[in-house]
Amino acid sequence: MLLADYRPKSQLVTRNTLVEKPRFPVIDVHNHLSEPFSDWGDKPLAELLDLLDEAGVITYVDLDGGWGEEILNAHLDLFKAKAPERFQLFGGVDWSQWERIGSGFPEWAAGRLKIQKERGAQGLKIWKVLGLHVRDHNRKLVEVDDPRLIPLWETAGELGLPVMIHVADPVAFFDPIDETNERCEELQAHPDWIFTSPPFPSFMSIMESLASLVVRHPNTIFIGAHVGCYAENLGWVSALLDRCPNFYVDISARIGELGRQPYSARRFFIQYAERILFGLDLGPDLDAYRIAYRFLETDDEYFNYDSEEVPQQGRWYVHGLYLTDDVLKNVYSGNAKRILGIEQ
Ligand SMILES: [Zn+2]
Repeated sequence: MLLADYRPKSQLVTRNTLVEKPRFPVIDVHNHLSEPFSDWGDKPLAELLDLLDEAGVITYVDLDGGWGEEILNAHLDLFKAKAPERFQLFGGVDWSQWERIGSGFPEWAAGRLKIQKERGAQGLKIWKVLGLHVRDHNRKLVEVDDPRLIPLWETAGELGLPVMIHVADPVAFFDPIDETNERCEELQAHPDWIFTSPPFPSFMSIMESLASLVVRHPNTIFIGAHVGCYAENLGWVSALLDRCPNFYVDISARIGELGRQPYSARRFFIQYAERILFGLDLGPDLDAYRIAYRFLETDDEYFNYDSEEVPQQGRWYVHGLYLTDDVLKNVYSGNAKRILGIEQ
């Protein structure tokens, strides 16, 4: 038998709680309505709203506003215009224009933000290409805290647009792909996620750059996607949260990380209950929502964090955090209401 075919079945007899609905209404601050996560452009909106009702999600933040007006307008028309209180839409930066525009790019990008806000964008999504792929007009790799981009971040702050920022990726994506890599199987399935350093910058250099960016712009709200982009090290994330009141984190796509360190994760949620936001990042997927609710609400032990038989982020299981009502209320919606200006 090959190791890849191994499917051990746990013989533990422990509780298996189905949490159909979250204990309190949920605002999902990190999700998508376009490929590759989900594609709702051609499906009836009523179906999506029913699904969100079923999942207990009152507001869904769609990060797929793109960077030009076309996609932004399309998503506004398809979703937001028809059910304004159920959706928020985030815009983006068209990095590909740096080469054409040259040194005026940062001011241009800041100007685009103003236009996006006028159209209806309620935040700015920064994709992980910044720090990994984005290049300036001299074809030089742009660092996350590149000072030339100061106008962009300051403008986001002035406009009151929170910045949902995802930099780097799981730490193991930066390591050599060998028998010690804990995400080896996942990287074999997605070779485009391999950022082995070198040639890519090291994981820690990207994280230090993120920290210096957040410190430099105290008047701009940054939401560090995927537990501040470093779910493997809650101590590091805690230190940045302590240092920067303008920093928040979402928990999207990181149940697998948080749930394999349940004691640290529970302490983290209790200590930073006002800084942690709920997000899924897997499309409006009912099963995935229910796994997240089970993780946050129950003390179930050793369960699969994925809908797939072999969990995709790594062959381990997770333990529930049995958070209190106060913490849950903040994480599910209280913090998001404050930061995203949602009145409900
Ligand atoms: Zn995402």
